Amino acid sequence: MARIKYSTPIVEMQGDEMTRILWDWIKEILIEPYVELNCEYYDLGLPYRDGTNDEVTISAAAAIKKYGVGVKCATITPNAARVAEYGLKKMWASPNGTIRAYLDGTVFREPILCDAIRPYIPAWTSPVVIARHAYGDVYKNSEIRADRACEAFLEVRYDDGEISREKIARLDGAGVVQGIHNTDASIENFARSCFNYALDVKRDVWFASKDTISKTYDGRFKDIFAEVYESGYKTEFEKVGIKYEYSLIDDSVARVIRSNGGMIWALKNYDGDVMSDMVATAFGSLAMMTSVLVSPSGAYEYEAAHGTVTRHYYRYRGGEETSTNPVATIFAWTGALRKRGEKDGVPALCAFAGKLETAVKKTINDGYITGDLKALFDADGITPRVMTTRDFLRKTATELR
Ligand code: NAP
Ligand code: MG
Repeated sequence: MARIKYSTPIVEMQGDEMTRILWDWIKEILIEPYVELNCEYYDLGLPYRDGTNDEVTISAAAAIKKYGVGVKCATITPNAARVAEYGLKKMWASPNGTIRAYLDGTVFREPILCDAIRPYIPAWTSPVVIARHAYGDVYKNSEIRADRACEAFLEVRYDDGEISREKIARLDGAGVVQGIHNTDASIENFARSCFNYALDVKRDVWFASKDTISKTYDGRFKDIFAEVYESGYKTEFEKVGIKYEYSLIDDSVARVIRSNGGMIWALKNYDGDVMSDMVATAFGSLAMMTSVLVSPSGAYEYEAAHGTVTRHYYRYRGGEETSTNPVATIFAWTGALRKRGEKDGVPALCAFAGKLETAVKKTINDGYITGDLKALFDADGITPRVMTTRDFLRKTATELR
């Protein structure tokens, strides 16, 4: 059989530990027999990042910007223990953080649904996609612990010399004070990324914040979303039959729980952090969540939402065959292949991505699963069989064939 070809490279970023192992198996067993991969390869494994003083991560980010499509394996974000384990020159920054900052992107997280895997919220028959703003707020705050009575002020000094000053509070005893910020430019990019992605996947956008309480700060988010929407997206949305709605965060939480899913839930940085863990758990497993970083200029980077699965890797290194779930990593590849196909007009590549995703879901629905899915499996008359990763991949390959 002739393999599918395409001409613009996909930026391939290999990573660490168990997911680095899965990476090669997925390509070998499921992709390369059908697709003649044309990838620009970047090794984001920790040893090579250390060897290049992390330059490789910046080069990879630049390549994503250039070619528009990337696929990334999970990578170690070093902490003190990793510095010792790998003998690192320094505690390098999170590659995801570096790439996100370079592309000024928004991360969309989407669960992969299979009929036989029941979400904890049974009404959620379509995915709840979380779009989390990735800049500012409490993640870039300034805090002061006041150990005695004081007056706290918020002060803004404009470059032209003008000063705006607001009293925060008088504290009659010890307490804590915090200052946070965001920028119009970042909020606007966030709104654009959400609307672009919504048009791409044809889903409604629900943006929620607390503008009744935070009238200026959250109010600014609400206004910018409305302005960006009115400035051209509205007509596009109407054309494809999707909607944009703003609501209060408390109201939004209640409505999402009562819904059947299917929306893009756009959230401020902190709300998105908290709600994405809630949504991932409610859908079952972190190993069934995909993640895509979308830049305002339209570059896409696909990856699994989980980490490098360290505990499984240590067992694998000890000679054990593990039952690590490769599904989110497979879907990172199918996401990238489909996007490449769409951007370059190669329908065969899009069709292959769809077929591979169907084969994965069929394998699971037929009861051939990895260990993490055992407790969540629920299909009449089928007793699930827990397989090793390689056997799961081979079974999927049989389905695909
Ligand atoms: P993790 O790798 O996601 O794993 C946490 C646990 O979740 C695993 O030990 C495993 O539980 C379960 N799990 C996650 N993915 C699984 C899969 N595909 N199949 C089966 N079980 C799975 O998170 P972590 O242990 O907190 O982090 C490990 C390393 O990953 C860290 O160095 C961290 O920096 C990095 N990390 C990278 C990214 C990224 O690149 N996007 C994201 C998060 C973390 P059991 O052991 O109970 O089976
Ligand atoms: Mg979190």
